[in-house]
Amino acid sequence: MGLGAALGLGLNWAGVEGMVDASIVGNVATVGKEIGDLFLRLLQMLVVPLIVSSLITGVTGMGDLRTLGAIGGRAIGFYLTTSFVAIVTGIAVVNIIRPGEGAELAMLEEGAAAKPLLTDTPDSIAVVLWEQLESLIPKNPLAAATEGDMLPVIFFSLLIGVFIGIAEHREGSKDASIVRRFFSGLFDVMMQMTLFVVKFAPIGVFGFTLYAAAGKGPAAFRVLGWYVLTVFVALLIHAMVTLPFILRVRTGRSPLGYARQLLTALVTAFSTASSNGTLPLTMENVEKAGVRPQVASFVLPLGATINMDGTALYEAVAVLFIAQVYGIDLTMAQQGLIALTALLASIGAAGIPHAGMVMMVVVLNAVGLPTSAVALILAVDRILDMLRTTVNVWSDSIAAAVVDAGE
Ligand code: ASP
Repeated sequence: MGLGAALGLGLNWAGVEGMVDASIVGNVATVGKEIGDLFLRLLQMLVVPLIVSSLITGVTGMGDLRTLGAIGGRAIGFYLTTSFVAIVTGIAVVNIIRPGEGAELAMLEEGAAAKPLLTDTPDSIAVVLWEQLESLIPKNPLAAATEGDMLPVIFFSLLIGVFIGIAEHREGSKDASIVRRFFSGLFDVMMQMTLFVVKFAPIGVFGFTLYAAAGKGPAAFRVLGWYVLTVFVALLIHAMVTLPFILRVRTGRSPLGYARQLLTALVTAFSTASSNGTLPLTMENVEKAGVRPQVASFVLPLGATINMDGTALYEAVAVLFIAQVYGIDLTMAQQGLIALTALLASIGAAGIPHAGMVMMVVVLNAVGLPTSAVALILAVDRILDMLRTTVNVWSDSIAAAVVDAGE
């Protein structure tokens, strides 16, 4: 990112000063974009198989739904509530700071043309919700997957997970477990593939930063700076106010003391940007802090897959930021739709680096914004990923303590 910024800004400056021909600056920017786009394509390639296998594996990881029903219900209640509160916090902060306003960027030229799509959405929240509900149910799950229509794919995957569990526990059923093991194996493979693709992130980031810096000069960074600040402030409120409050009220634990016990996990989450990678440490820390292993071993792995407060918040803020950049004014109903989609996207995101950014494609698709807009925020995704992953792991750990206290 630094290299792309330095090179791009230097070129942009030289172009403005007339030391370099403007067409050369333009060409370099285009090359940067092409390089970044290759990386983006690699990410997009992963979306369908990664989230299908991640969700199915997460749900079947609950084991027998009946025995785990009580813990599961409580855990899922916590996951959904806190993710939703995180999203509301993010939406509030992004509406106050308005980081994308006045950007007039049209940084993604082809994206600007797609602008009217969103304004077509009906305003009534009831209509929006009903349509969303309807679109959750795929007429043909395979067709939905082929089209990259992710919400029905997520819904269908959750159902497959649940019914694998049910089928496995029927007497005389031997073969359902093959399906479970297939998806769990597929998930392993997809995680490895994602980790491989993520290795190219520096090149993709370099390309997109070069593109933004050479093409747009310092303005691009001013806008992204406000965007980063917005996500940061919202994450901070969630991690330092909302979650500690829940922990204190529901368990009587001292938030600061609990955070200290979780220090290793939190620092690892920050540096690796992967809740899944951090999981072994999270479990160790949480159990050391006195949460019973039976609870921790269920709540934490499931949480690492589906409970992502930081990611949910980030999805909502990022989409609203992009809408602001395109100068689209969103109604309450549209923001409600984004909140719902962000929640589903955070559930579908895998606990690995940049998974949340991969899911951005889903949210943008769902609300009719051009998916190429991801390019706009790619340059700063790593730092935001580190921050949101730390919040994700913090929330998982608090979920474990809360569910444990409720048992
Ligand atoms: N990296 C995040 C995590 O592992 C997911 C994301 O990209 O938002 O929790």
